[in-house]
Amino acid sequence: MRLILLGPPGAGKGTQSERLKEKYHIPQLSTGDMLRAEVKAATPVGLEAKAVMDKGGLVPDDTVVGIVADRIEAPDAKAGFILDGFPRTVHQAEALARMLRAKNMDLDAVIELKVDEATLLDRIAKRVKDMLACGGTVRADDNPEAFKTRLDAYHAQTAPVADFYAKKAVLKTVDGMAPVDAVTRAIEQMLDGPARSVHSG
Ligand code: AMP
Repeated sequence: MRLILLGPPGAGKGTQSERLKEKYHIPQLSTGDMLRAEVKAATPVGLEAKAVMDKGGLVPDDTVVGIVADRIEAPDAKAGFILDGFPRTVHQAEALARMLRAKNMDLDAVIELKVDEATLLDRIAKRVKDMLACGGTVRADDNPEAFKTRLDAYHAQTAPVADFYAKKAVLKTVDGMAPVDAVTRAIEQMLDGPARSVHSG
């Protein structure tokens, strides 16, 4: 199964991907996690990406496409994968389409988590305040300013990716404001089809 989860930052893509990966036994490929690993290891890619990421902007397409191209070649991605945070631009979506075509592979579904952004902004501000109040640390790009930049990048560059997949008729939409378990159930129903009703007698 090859899936893409789309949605603005904070919509719950990471949480849902974690659950789907357990159920379908396929890896979660989060470009954000991969980039943070590069930053941590101070690789050339990481050093270049850090400043952009801290401000909430998008890392150049070629860098991210290169990372994904390598990752989907790994043995654990042969049976499928969940892309979380990629593609974030139409250019990335086109590059992914070329990569998959070259391997004779298709996407099974692109699932968009729809959320109310004013609620997201309130949520992130509260989470940061609570974390700092109890002496914790937060992601450099989880402060309200960087978060706003990430949302702006989503509107300008990632929202068109949903249209790209809608035109290919693979886009499905889920209410991301529903409780986490309900969102998971809605996604699973889309992937597995409606549960068959059991008739007695
Ligand atoms: P995420 O964990 O998905 O929110 O990603 C964190 C940050 O990594 C983003 O704000 C971007 O700076 C960068 N990033 C992650 N995925 C991509 C992508 N597909 N294209 C460009 N930048 C990305």
